[in-house]
Amino acid sequence: MARPDYRARILGCLFNRQEATRTEIAEVLGVRKSTVGEICGRLLADRQVLGRQGAKRNERLRLNPGTFLALGVEHRLDCLKLVALDAALQRVAQASLPMGKIYEEARVAAILEQVRGFIRDKGLAEKSLIGLGFSDFIPHDIGTGLKYKSIWMPGWGSINIKAKVEESLGLGTRIMRCTDAFSLAERVFGSCRTADNFITVQLDEGIGVSVFHDGFFVRGSTDIFGELGHTVYKEEGEICKCGNRGCLETIAGVDAVIRKVKANMDRTYFHTRGASLTLDDVIHNAQEGNKLALLALNEAAKAIGNTLAIVVNVLGITRIVLYGRLVRAGELLRQQLLNSIRQHCIYPLNQDTEVCLSQLDEYGSAAGAAYGMLRGYFADGDQD
Ligand SMILES: [Zn+2]
Repeated sequence: MARPDYRARILGCLFNRQEATRTEIAEVLGVRKSTVGEICGRLLADRQVLGRQGAKRNERLRLNPGTFLALGVEHRLDCLKLVALDAALQRVAQASLPMGKIYEEARVAAILEQVRGFIRDKGLAEKSLIGLGFSDFIPHDIGTGLKYKSIWMPGWGSINIKAKVEESLGLGTRIMRCTDAFSLAERVFGSCRTADNFITVQLDEGIGVSVFHDGFFVRGSTDIFGELGHTVYKEEGEICKCGNRGCLETIAGVDAVIRKVKANMDRTYFHTRGASLTLDDVIHNAQEGNKLALLALNEAAKAIGNTLAIVVNVLGITRIVLYGRLVRAGELLRQQLLNSIRQHCIYPLNQDTEVCLSQLDEYGSAAGAAYGMLRGYFADGDQD
C-alpha cells in the first residue's frame, strides 16, 4: 500500500524539480533515504527515471520524458489544435486539424477521430500517454456537461465531453476553459513564469478573461465565467449574440471591428487585397495611417481598456497579458488599451498596470491543457 504511494510521490517530486538526487528527494518528501534508494532503483530499471551515466552517490535523476506524454487538445469553432507534451515540457508533436460545421454527437465523433489520427500519425506510443487535457472555447458546465446548456453551439451543453473522451480513447481527461489553459501556458512557457498574479485576456470574436491568483485560477460557482465580452458597454448599442444589447463584443470583438470598417469603407479610401475584408487588411491599413482602420481599432482598444479598468479596480491585479487575433495590431492596440486602463483606474493601480502581448504561438492553449494534465497527474500520484 505504502510503496506505490512513495513511487508516485517520487515521480511527482522529479516532475516539479525536473532533476534531483536521491538525498534531495528524501529530504523534500521526508522519506527515509534507503526507501527512496530502493524505489529509485526500480524506476531506473523500468526506464521511467533516468540517471547520469557514471555518477554514483550524487547521481542526478530525472523523469524519462518520453515515458510520460500528455495530449493537449484545443477545441475551436473551425479547427482543433493538438500538442503532445513530454515530462520535460517539450512538445514532441503538434498539428492543426480542420473542424467542419457539424454539431452535437457528430462533432464529438469528429473530434475523437482527429485525436486518434494524431496519435497514430505522429507515432505516439499509446502506453506512454498519461492523459488528455481538453481546452474548450465553449462555456459549459465542465464538471458534468449536463447542468447548463451551451448558448453558443447547439447541443454542446448536454454533452459530457470528459466522459466521451475517457470512454472512447481510454485516456484520463481534464477539461479546461480555453482562456485558463492559455493562462497556464503563460505561467509555464510564457512571460508570466515569475508572476503569481495576472489576468489573461483573449481578444478574438469573443472576449474572455482568466484570472490567475496565487498559483490557481479564480473560479466561480460554475465554470461559466470570465465572460468580459458580455458586459454591457453601450446600453443602446447593437444586439449581441447572447441576446443582450450593447455588449463589449459588439464593439471590440474581431467581427465587430471588421464590420465597422466594412460599413464605412465606401465613403473613404481603403485598400483591400481580396474580395472580402479581413482583420489583417484592417491592421495593415491602420499601420499605413488609414484613419477609418485606426478609428475602428482605437475604439475597440478603448472599450476593452475601459472595461478592464473595472476588473483591475475590483481585483487589484495589475499585470495583464493579451492574446488572440486582435493582438496582431501590436503596439497600436497595446498603447491605446493601456492609456484607457491608466485613465480609469484608481491610484496607485493606474501607475502599476502593465499590459503585454503574449509571445506564445497558436498552440499555446493546447500546450497549457497538456501541461495541466501532466501537473494534475503527478500531483495526484494516481498513475498506479
Ligand atoms: Zn453579449
